[in-house]
This record gives sequence, C-alpha cells and structure tokens, in this order.
Amino acid sequence: MNRDTLRAVQDNCPYLKSVISWVRVVIVERPWCQVALSLTLLFLTACQTAPEKSAPPEAAELPAATTAEPIRTDDVILIDGQPFHTGTRVITWKEKGGYNAYEFTPTELAGNANHGGRRLPDPEKGWVDRDAPWDLPALQSYVDQFVLHYDSEGFSRRCFVVLQRRGLSAHFLLDLDGTIYQTLDLRDRAYHARESNSRSIGIEIANVGAFGPEDPDELKEWFVPDEEGKPVLRVPAPLGDPKFHQRDYIARPNRAEVITGTINGRSLRQYDFTAEQYAALIKLTATLHRIFPLITLDQPRDAEGNPIHEKLPDAVLENYRGLIGHYHLQEIKVDPGPAFDWDLLIEGARHQIKDQE
Ligand SMILES: [Zn+2]
Repeated sequence: MNRDTLRAVQDNCPYLKSVISWVRVVIVERPWCQVALSLTLLFLTACQTAPEKSAPPEAAELPAATTAEPIRTDDVILIDGQPFHTGTRVITWKEKGGYNAYEFTPTELAGNANHGGRRLPDPEKGWVDRDAPWDLPALQSYVDQFVLHYDSEGFSRRCFVVLQRRGLSAHFLLDLDGTIYQTLDLRDRAYHARESNSRSIGIEIANVGAFGPEDPDELKEWFVPDEEGKPVLRVPAPLGDPKFHQRDYIARPNRAEVITGTINGRSLRQYDFTAEQYAALIKLTATLHRIFPLITLDQPRDAEGNPIHEKLPDAVLENYRGLIGHYHLQEIKVDPGPAFDWDLLIEGARHQIKDQE
C-alpha cells in the first residue's frame, strides 16, 4: 500500500483516520511510550514461551504428599460436654441418626424420668446430690464400673424405643453392625443398673438374648443357615427395618455354634455377638479405662481367679471396680448371657491400651 492509497483509504474512513492520528500523537511522538510498549510485548512473549523452556521439576522440589491420617470426628464420645476419641464409629444423641435419651415423655408406664444426676451414697439418707456440679475430675474419682447388658430386642433401634417406653436408659447402645450410639452424657446417671447407676456407665449390646429350656426358642426365628450351614441373622419381618448405620450389613455370630452356659442358676442357650460388636466394644472399653482408670480391665472373679457367673454378694459388689455384667448385680438377670466372650473383650482392651503406650 503506497502513501497515496493510504491517504485515499483514510479519506473514505474517518474512524481509521482518527485512530492513526491518535497512535501518532500518543506513541510515535513520545519515546517513553515506545519503551513501555516494547517491554509489555517482551513480557507477554516470555509468558507464552516460559513453559516450553523450563525443565521438569526435580522430585525433591515437589511438595511432599501428606501421609498423616485425617483427623476422625465420627468416633467421639462426650463427657461433661468434652469430646474424646475412641477410634470406632460413634453417633451421639446430638447427631443426625442418633438416639436422644434427653427427649423423654413421662407416661404411666415410664414414670417421670429416664435418667438423673449422679448421686453419692450416704449412710443415713441413702443417696445425696453432690454439693458442686459434676466435672471430669470428680467423675474420674467416682465412676468405677462399666455395666454390660444385652438388650434382648435384637437391634439398637428397637432397644431405644423399649427403653424410652419403660423409663430406662443406658449411656451407650451397641448395634449389630458395630455402631455405638451414645444417648446421654457420661456426666449423667442412666437408669439401667439399680444400685450401681450412680457409679457406673452402662451399655446395651444388641442381641436377641439367651433362652432356657422352658422358653420359646426365639433363636430359630432370628437365625437361618447359609449355604454352608452357618447361622445368619435375619430380623423377623414384623419388627421392621433395623436401619443399621451400615445399610448393607449382614449380621453373623462371631462363633457359629450356639453357646450354652449357666448364669444365676439358669441353664441357657445363646448365639454369640458379632465380630463388629466386639471390635467396637474393645475400643470403647479401652477408651473408658483410659479416662476412668478406676474401671479396671477385668471381670468379677472368685478367690482362685475363675470368672463368677452369678450375682455378687453385696459387700463384694460394693468394692468391685471394673467390667461387670448385669447378672452380677441382680439375681433375676442373665445378661449379657453365656455367649458373651469376656476373655475376647478383656484381652482385646488390654492390647489396645498397650499399643497406645
Ligand atoms: Zn440388663
């Protein structure tokens, strides 16, 4: 394009003409503008070509992959409002899907309350309230028993409904799939163990229960053999969906055979608890022992060291500190039954504590 042609185009296009005159005034007649323009173009060019020119980073220059486990928040129990990790799945009464024993409606059957404040034994008055509110150190110097029950309802959802209906409670429910539900703060007294309520923590472990020769054989209604003849738990249809936290969970007794034994003079048959329940209970028990050292990791034993499977004499019970079955507290009770594997729990919890030391 020669100069005459350019002028002709400019004459026919006033807009182009004004652009060219602006460029001339702003850039061509001001040398510092030319320098700035050149630097800008150089920078943009460098940006575009930089990735091609740079060498791949050495491995040592890369950020280190994080190897630490994410901090769990789904394993927390609450004591006087403070959270403590257990290492196993816990759903508290404050969470979605939890069971809240604080939500209680008094009825004729249930009475006025299903829990209360922990109380202290008094030689004259029986039981008295503590002068100061309970805090963690006070609880740690007082709580000394962990009472184990089976719920005889088969699964925790049904257990909670029945407890509420009867004006009873337990701090924990342990479902077949190993999910622990905390229904009350451990600061409070649950109604599950009569004279031991104030000094203890209680857990209802899901299990349909133990049966004597005179009882209807509910085990046949709850367990069916698989292809290998091993028992699988099937919740009877009229009882509805157990709504296990682990939705596809299939429950099997930890030992396949029916376990027999004598408790408080009654001969009984029972299927074992599930492996998931033992695994969760071991972690919870170890945690409780760590926080409440007065709860020793042992069961009631006679002078020779043999386990006792009947109610303890009152004086022995008063001095006993540790893991304890409901049947050790009341002669009419047989839970957690002959199938409960005390050795598995105690050895497991002791190992858990050692591993953490
Ligand atoms: Zn019980």
